[in-house]
Amino acid sequence: METIKPCAEMIKLNEIKASVPIDSYQQEMSIELKRADGETVPIQHVHFSLENPVVQLSIQTMNNMELGYNYILHCNHEQLPVFIGEVVRTRDFDNLYYYDGDDLGVCYTKTSTSFTVWAPTATDVQVTLFENATDNEGLRFPFTRKAKGVWTTTIPGDWENWCFTYQLYIQHVWNEAVDPYVQAVTVNGEKGVIVDMEKYQVTDYPLPVVEKQDAIIYEVHIRDFSIHPHSGIKHKGKFLGFTETKTKGKKGTKTGLDYLVELGVTHVELLPLHDYGSVDEMNPNQHYNWGYDPIHYFAVEGSYSTNPLDGRVRIKELKQMIATLHEHGIKVILDVVFNHVYIWESSDFEKIVPGYYFRYEENGEMANGTGVGNDIASERKMVRKFILDCLKYWVREYKIDGFRFDLMGIFDLETARIIENELKDIRPDLFLLGEGWDLPTPLPFWEKATIKNAREIPTISFFNDRFRDVIRGSSFHKTDRGFINGNKETVGEVLEGLCGSIGFQNEGLFTNPAQSINYMECHDNYTVWDKLSFTNEKEEENVRRKMHQLGTALVLLAQGVPFLHAGQEFFRTKQGVENSYNSPDFINQLDWDRKEQFKKDVMYVKNLIALRKAHPAFRLKTKAEIKKHIQPLQAPDHVVAYHMNDLYEIDSWNNIVVIHNGSWSTVEISLPYPGQWHIVIDEETVSLIPLYIVEDEKIHVKPLTTMMMFQ
Ligand code: CA
Repeated sequence: METIKPCAEMIKLNEIKASVPIDSYQQEMSIELKRADGETVPIQHVHFSLENPVVQLSIQTMNNMELGYNYILHCNHEQLPVFIGEVVRTRDFDNLYYYDGDDLGVCYTKTSTSFTVWAPTATDVQVTLFENATDNEGLRFPFTRKAKGVWTTTIPGDWENWCFTYQLYIQHVWNEAVDPYVQAVTVNGEKGVIVDMEKYQVTDYPLPVVEKQDAIIYEVHIRDFSIHPHSGIKHKGKFLGFTETKTKGKKGTKTGLDYLVELGVTHVELLPLHDYGSVDEMNPNQHYNWGYDPIHYFAVEGSYSTNPLDGRVRIKELKQMIATLHEHGIKVILDVVFNHVYIWESSDFEKIVPGYYFRYEENGEMANGTGVGNDIASERKMVRKFILDCLKYWVREYKIDGFRFDLMGIFDLETARIIENELKDIRPDLFLLGEGWDLPTPLPFWEKATIKNAREIPTISFFNDRFRDVIRGSSFHKTDRGFINGNKETVGEVLEGLCGSIGFQNEGLFTNPAQSINYMECHDNYTVWDKLSFTNEKEEENVRRKMHQLGTALVLLAQGVPFLHAGQEFFRTKQGVENSYNSPDFINQLDWDRKEQFKKDVMYVKNLIALRKAHPAFRLKTKAEIKKHIQPLQAPDHVVAYHMNDLYEIDSWNNIVVIHNGSWSTVEISLPYPGQWHIVIDEETVSLIPLYIVEDEKIHVKPLTTMMMFQ
């Protein structure tokens, strides 16, 4: 027969739940609760329930138990250590132990280093300092416990570049952890490193404010950007790859940073570059990962630095990269992953305050709305504070210009609201955007930061999947088609998307157009080029090229914020791989040869960007302006045509006609006004200077093309 192990756990600050074998149950069962230091804890009430083969005890204490002590439940002759259970997820715990100090983490000065960590359920905390990253033996120093469960110690002396770990006694065992606020780490994040951040101040080039609708976002992965053999970039796969100028491809055209400048994008959005776990930093070329597996949120990933063994180098090189991008007029948005951690069981969060940082289902199981094994509980006070402190740190220390919140739908709405408000105080023009997918995390729908609740957080933008799907077909069905690849039913929704999804004719998603991130592809899912090979496999490449170009024109001419997946302008392919998060470079790299192969198409996109930047008509700020100036035009099946009128107070062009022909025939459209029309987009050419002039009541638009004219 299985032996039943008695156990006890704290579920509220004044309640312990215990379970003992039924044979130890007696009418006069003696129950006593003591702290390890011998002090008795007065009990108010004990409730017994017989659940064969055990007796469940619910022990209510007179007062709240103070955390920071080990408790022992004396149950007849048994002494049960009391484990910390779901008490850490109660409101009382959050209210009593919330700490609002700004000194968490490591603080270095020449004469001393201080460590401060929030660990209310720990009963002892120490720090070990190691002279070298690989040392196993070090110098141990004790912490002192302060109010709110904060532990701190200040060690005199100059400890610059020493490494450290914490030892915490929790749940009757010692855990070794690294401070979640740590700014620098050793290779693979095994230890923290004490750094003098003052030494890494670089000259920055503050850029003028860019309003959201004026941004053009370009999403790229650090490694993908330069790893291709013909990138012409020396520091392949590294932060420094973004700092090289005058780099050229095989046929001598611009690559790298110079190319970004030439293309005219305003923001690069970088896939995660805080320390993540899936790439061995000792062998960065043996693995590839997008990096959505965070370990240290304040520290930098080592595999992108030229020397991952030195925790300082990555800080220096990342700063150099950001400063260089700024110097070239490009702002930087960071992709941040506050929805889950790499492995929750071994995370510093779990080792420091077990059970606190993650969300649980009602049945006690770990929530998994993210689909990767854990959901971070943003609604808890110290989690929310951690997220805010981290974002502020990146803005202040690294001069980051915006954040892309991965799976933001996991956040509680209140946290998103607080982020919105508090970050605005630091940098009013910080660009905030997120994935507002509604995921099965245990929060009521009205408390989730999803696209459906976008109106509640009007200065955060959302990836507009509705527009994306009507452009090129659903992500969930490989062969589903959208406007560009043969689905004429999408016309109404395409017009909505072109009008910023603010509720032009149908139900809207957003309060203002800048909330809409307009895109047809990103790092996730098939690239559009690959999708077209499934939806339109019989079509010639030339036809698919036109479809693709039409899609990019929709994105760049729509009201809202255009977002390009790097290489989309030269028909990026991932060789048919959908979820390429850990696929080799061959699949993920930006193929600079294609950039040279599709030179004309790149020019088309570049000129669309220039046209958008030169004409505020495509960057309207409000729903009212959109409703006032945009009028749909009569158009045949599978064609979206609209007219923008009375723009004289907004744009140098007074009337604009835009026609997107998704059909396979040349169509005829009646123009809204007589007189001369200056054609600026026709077939595969975009030009800011009119290509030609027509003076006719009707215009003909070629299959699968965009046409634009003004007067
Ligand atoms: Ca790492």
